[in-house]
Amino acid sequence: TEEMMIRSEKLSIVGQLAAGVAHEIRNPLTTLKGFTQLIKAGKISDGYIDLMQVELERINQIVSEFMVIAKPKDVELKRHDLHRIIVDVIHFMEMQAIMNNVEFKYSLQEHVCCLCNEDQLKQVFMNILKNAIEAMPSGGFIEIAMACEIDRIEIDFTDHGVGIPKEMLSRLGEPFFTTKETGTGLGLMICHRIIESHNGTMQIRSKPKKGTNIKITLPNG
Ligand code: ADP
Ligand code: MG
Repeated sequence: TEEMMIRSEKLSIVGQLAAGVAHEIRNPLTTLKGFTQLIKAGKISDGYIDLMQVELERINQIVSEFMVIAKPKDVELKRHDLHRIIVDVIHFMEMQAIMNNVEFKYSLQEHVCCLCNEDQLKQVFMNILKNAIEAMPSGGFIEIAMACEIDRIEIDFTDHGVGIPKEMLSRLGEPFFTTKETGTGLGLMICHRIIESHNGTMQIRSKPKKGTNIKITLPNG
């Protein structure tokens, strides 16, 4: 019976997720449909194409974030250099950082081996950095630190942004929980899933108006 309970619990989570995804995708789809009808009828100019692209991008993001959990079996773990993965992500995010007056400060260790899926870990680090940048509307520093223990690797992301109120901390990682106007509320849930599937841990500490620290541990080797 315990197994059955777990199974039905899982099914209900899947159901909730499916309903959530459908809902989240239907909103931008409805907007897009409206725009195409208006453009076709000649009632608005094609100046609205920019807005349509925003909505399309939103759908694209939701779908691509879900790809990660849709195919958990296909995930292959291989040995990769975590240092290179993090540096790649930092470079990839640099443009977004510069545009927001944000600077990355990092102290990383080189040649750190980790059994992982490169694309997934990149997605985790990108989500975290994206949130950190978004949390600092007037710019500032984001610190990225990496430390190696015998059995595990620790990666720390610290921003000095708006922080998260205590009562909200427990809701982080809940699908579709977002405080942003154009947020999906899927980023942290995906991060949790991925880190879990790597036998790692993810811990979030935050103080309103002070900033947020996210500590990830992964098995070393
Ligand atoms: P999204 O970014 O689309 O809102 P996430 O799952 O990435 O979804 O984040 C959920 C919520 O957690 C955000 O809307 C924000 O309120 C909060 N959050 C996440 N990271 C940070 C951070 N570094 N600083 C402040 N708040 C954060
Ligand atoms: Mg996010």
